[in-house]
Amino acid sequence: MADVILKNVWKKFGDFTAVRDMNLHIKDGEFMILLGPSGCGKTTTLRMIAGLEEPTEGTIQIGDKLVADPKNGVFVPPKDRDIAMVFQSYALYPHMTVYDNIAFPLKLRKVPKDEIDRRVREVAEMLGLSELLNRKPRELSGGQRQRVALGRAIVRKPQVFLMDEPLSNLDAKLRVKMRAELKKLQRQLGVTTIYVTHDQVEAMTMGDRIAVINQGQLQQVGTPDEVYDNPANTFVGGFIGSPPMNFMDATVTHDGFVDFGSFRLKLLPDQVEVLEEKGYLGKEVIFGIRPEDVYDAFFAQVKIPGENMARALVEIIENLGGEKIVHLSVEDVLFTGKFPAESKVEEGQEVDVVFDMRKAHVFDKGSGKAVF
Ligand code: ATP
Repeated sequence: MADVILKNVWKKFGDFTAVRDMNLHIKDGEFMILLGPSGCGKTTTLRMIAGLEEPTEGTIQIGDKLVADPKNGVFVPPKDRDIAMVFQSYALYPHMTVYDNIAFPLKLRKVPKDEIDRRVREVAEMLGLSELLNRKPRELSGGQRQRVALGRAIVRKPQVFLMDEPLSNLDAKLRVKMRAELKKLQRQLGVTTIYVTHDQVEAMTMGDRIAVINQGQLQQVGTPDEVYDNPANTFVGGFIGSPPMNFMDATVTHDGFVDFGSFRLKLLPDQVEVLEEKGYLGKEVIFGIRPEDVYDAFFAQVKIPGENMARALVEIIENLGGEKIVHLSVEDVLFTGKFPAESKVEEGQEVDVVFDMRKAHVFDKGSGKAVF
């Protein structure tokens, strides 16, 4: 069993706090994604789990072993943590064959030769590298090289894989393919995996759970569906999903609408109930709705004028082939909708839009925390 448990972990570099009071429990066999913008502290978190950085405060446990506890002078070096790392740069040995690159960690640990041979071939088979064992890295494609790097990590059968943007050097098409392969491989091996990325699509498609981090602080941990459907705050709502969630300043009226000034939308009874309970009636809030929940009225099923509709000006259309991202305005209120390719909207014209109020979010204006 290899759960990875971070308790109240802080990392300071001089005056700068890179990781702030991180509490995270990664379960045995889980594929956990650390997701956040550049500089948010995800790599630093991973490096502390690896033992490449020491936390300033807090404890880290891998399996049943406490590997970092600065207060009590505990620090287990990387080589004794039973982890394997895969980085963005694959760092293969250029003069060695694929076989020797994969075998290297086992040779280092003085594993008997015939066992090395068996394990290298098994891993090569799993990764589709069997035909390439005698090649040198320069004779491989980017995807093949990344697979060799993975092979070298999995051949040791570590308790935990740590991966830092391992696919970011690959071209877009290969990245999509490797995403699926990596996910499948992780399922097959059942090894606890912690994977750093700033790419929300990668996070959504690969992770069992996602830990969203901003400015050194954990914002939310949940399954891809949880963080997408119920973002804990405006940061998570805006970071996950593409194009990002619309955020619109609004006032909650006493008769159960969100009022934007130029138009208003009727809230559902249970939404009004929550807002009333929490004291938001008559208050300013941030209204959030995803572009995919803003419809061209022509394609919407439930259209109730004065309740879930508005007449908007089409400012700009981004045609993506399969769909259109439509930038809309109602006077000074701006938002985007994701419309089907068949939508007949044109720039400079007006269109009736429908908001799927079941998918609406309301956030506290001061803290950005979700009310629902
Ligand atoms: P990226 O996606 O760009 O790699 P990240 O989320 O992985 O970003 P980290 O590498 O963890 O970010 O860095 C977090 C913050 O800590 C950054 O502002 C970085 O400049 C700072 N930082 C990291 N390592 C050090 C260090 N050794 N000394 C000082 N500051 C550091």
